Amino acid sequence: MSRKEPWTHVEVLRLGHRPERDKRITTHVALAARAFGAGSIHVDRKDPSLERTIRSVTERFGGSFSIETGVSRRSVMGRFDGTIVHLTMYGIPVDRAVRELPEGEKILVVVGAEKVPADVYDLAHFNVSVANQPHSEVSALAIFLDRLFGGRELERSFPGGEVRIAPASHGKAVLPAGDGNGSMEIEDPFSMEWPPVPSEKECMTLLHMLGTSTPVMTHVREVHRMGMDIYSRSMEFGSGRDLDIDAELLSAGLLLHDIGRSRTHSIRHVTIGAELARRLHLDDRIVSIIHNHPGAGILASEAAELGLPEEDYIPVSLEERIVSHADNLVGESRRRPLERALERLRSKGALAAVERMKRLHEELEDILGIDIDALT
Ligand code: SAM
Repeated sequence: MSRKEPWTHVEVLRLGHRPERDKRITTHVALAARAFGAGSIHVDRKDPSLERTIRSVTERFGGSFSIETGVSRRSVMGRFDGTIVHLTMYGIPVDRAVRELPEGEKILVVVGAEKVPADVYDLAHFNVSVANQPHSEVSALAIFLDRLFGGRELERSFPGGEVRIAPASHGKAVLPAGDGNGSMEIEDPFSMEWPPVPSEKECMTLLHMLGTSTPVMTHVREVHRMGMDIYSRSMEFGSGRDLDIDAELLSAGLLLHDIGRSRTHSIRHVTIGAELARRLHLDDRIVSIIHNHPGAGILASEAAELGLPEEDYIPVSLEERIVSHADNLVGESRRRPLERALERLRSKGALAAVERMKRLHEELEDILGIDIDALT
């Protein structure tokens, strides 16, 4: 027997269960046992309702976990042909115990409720603590199993259930078990291949997969509309046709400028966002758009005070400048005239930034040959 396929070789014995008082915590002991790699649980007092609950979870979510209630501890511990581990705050440290457990033996993990009878300490081969501090049978069991299996229990599949859960950073993805193996699909945007300049739909999928919140999504959509309006107006009525603006890059930059806000709302979303884009192997020009979008730019000399690495965050290319300014002209979700954006900066005392934003506005109007404020 090897611990590589351990799931059927660990049993749990729950002592001191009082059906009238402990229903919830014993249910949690059983759920933790099932979720973290044990194959069965024995409970010392009869409790048909507890049995029903656990069986129904197993039917729905899969695996072959079994439960029996109303069994005496002496018979379970007496007939067990493996190693008995009793979890108690008085025992030896869990890591030492896991090292000393004989390889390949079946394990019975005993957890108590209130007072554990003295003979349990004698009958156990190992009395094991998860920190020598009082906490609970659920936390002790979960941590013991995790240490025992070295974390592999988290990747275990639960065959035969009615449903399976597809991991999603937001929302609930409950799917029919389908192929019957119940295995999990990891929706990990970092293990997927993205085009260097993703399309509008791909950008939205990416933001969604990263767990971007609804208000940030709303903001990003409006900044995208604003930036694309600036572009179209310049193409139609201004000097757009004479300029070399990459519309696909602009569109992706507008949608992804706040990608870092899927991780934090602080100003560091700028550097964190650029790093996310690098990890996703997006085009360097998108990395720069993200990096250089805050306000009308931040100088290296101002960066440290804001908690950013000391470097320039100044929009240079036309796409960078349009993204940065479209963001300035959209508050959280609504467009605002330049004057309102400037007022906000003034009220924060950011006077250098006020001048920079005015300059960006004027320069863009000049280059694009349009009245940008008319769009707000
Ligand atoms: N007072 C009880 C005793 O002396 O055993 C402990 C009560 S505690 C609420 C219930 C169960 O949680 C214990 O029987 C034990 O199985 C588990 N437990 C609590 N703290 C623990 C720890 N630090 N290490 C291991 N198990 C612990």
